[in-house]
Amino acid sequence: MRIILLGPPGAGKGTQAQLISKRFGMPHISTGDILREAIKNKKPVGLKAKTYMEKGELVPDEVMNKIVTLRLKESDCDMGFILDGYPRTKTQALKLDEALSQIRQKIEFVFYFETSSEIIIERLSGRRICKNCHAVYHIKNMPSRHANVCDKCAGTLYQRPDDKKETIKNRLEIYTQQTKPLIDYYQKQSKLTKVNGDLAAEKLFEVLLEIFAGRKSE
Ligand code: ADP
Ligand code: ZN
Repeated sequence: MRIILLGPPGAGKGTQAQLISKRFGMPHISTGDILREAIKNKKPVGLKAKTYMEKGELVPDEVMNKIVTLRLKESDCDMGFILDGYPRTKTQALKLDEALSQIRQKIEFVFYFETSSEIIIERLSGRRICKNCHAVYHIKNMPSRHANVCDKCAGTLYQRPDDKKETIKNRLEIYTQQTKPLIDYYQKQSKLTKVNGDLAAEKLFEVLLEIFAGRKSE
């Protein structure tokens, strides 16, 4: 399966991507994680991305297209993948379609996570991430067993600098301007399925599993 998760920051895309990835053994490609990893390892692309990310702005399309096109060529993507955080602009969506058609592949599912703004803000401000493995927690909704320690790898949890209130506002505005138009783009390709991003993670995962099951037996 080739899947795109589309929706505002805080919609729960990363959490669902982790669940799908674990269940089906498909790679979870989070462009945000790739960039944060590049920053941590002081890679040139990380240095370039950092200033944009800190302000909650988008990293330029050329940079992102290159990262994703290279990643999709790796052999673990042959049987499918989950894209989380990409595409985020029309230019990226066009580039992705082009790159996939060159290798005779296409996107099958685009899930649009419809999410209310109060929930987004509550989720982002309580979100904590593992420094080491990028697992996502929430101080109230999904706490780790021990405070600030990752259940999976014992790494330290931290709050992303862009999850601060002022930056969240900027990210939501940019989402509305640049990413929301993709709903229409994928609707026209009859690939879009709207799901309720306000649901608790386990509930939404059940919904996704039902959709996969229904589609496969068609
Ligand atoms: P969220 O979905 O919670 O906003 P991500 O981890 O997906 O967070 O992205 C964090 C930041 O990384 C974005 O605000 C942006 O600066 C950058 N980024 C990630 N993916 C892309 C992309 N496809 N295009 C441009 N910038 C991106
Ligand atoms: Zn971890």
